[in-house]
Amino acid sequence: MSLSVLQAAPRVLLVTGGHNYDNSFHSLFDDTVDVKSNPKAFDTDMRRNYDVLVLYDMATDLTDKQKTNLMNFAEAGKGILIMHHAICSYNDWAWYRELVGGVYLLKSSTYKHDVDMDVKVVAKHAVTAGLHDMKIHDETYHGMWISPDSKVLLRTDNPLSDGPLAWISAYSKSRVVYVQLGHGKEAHRDAGYRQLIKNALAWCAGS
Ligand SMILES: [Zn+2]
Repeated sequence: MSLSVLQAAPRVLLVTGGHNYDNSFHSLFDDTVDVKSNPKAFDTDMRRNYDVLVLYDMATDLTDKQKTNLMNFAEAGKGILIMHHAICSYNDWAWYRELVGGVYLLKSSTYKHDVDMDVKVVAKHAVTAGLHDMKIHDETYHGMWISPDSKVLLRTDNPLSDGPLAWISAYSKSRVVYVQLGHGKEAHRDAGYRQLIKNALAWCAGS
């Protein structure tokens, strides 16, 4: 007698809070995704209940216990998709910038809304599978620190941007991808962007 084992869908926790966003953001995910707000999302040990953490939150600090829960999740070999303004969080927490592979410095980095930019696929990777060079209407960030060890997947030559728009972090204990794009509905509804996030979620889940 043989048992057929169905591959369970990845259990995803999406963390929001601390920054406004368009409701169109939620159309990127299906209704199995749990949504919690920063900082309460980090009150419990996330390892038992989730396979993938999606960060679309922004905050300056966490309690030591909340930090430990986030670190334990990352060190457990899970997947973490860090999106857009979540790179602005915890400017003073060195561990977090290593996790992300970059940081938007609240004191010196700059942003610009409503920029039309060319996006180039610059690396072959599961996260860029099926993606082509494209144009997108979105927000640029400039003056960030980006780890030289990050593997850049998407890039723009728009001078309002630092250039890298998505990368794989060098953080080695989990699969960590950062996507700078994704401010508003123009990005959230963009077919190429939707493919990018779908790929990133699948890669984070280890599939
Ligand atoms: Zn934004």
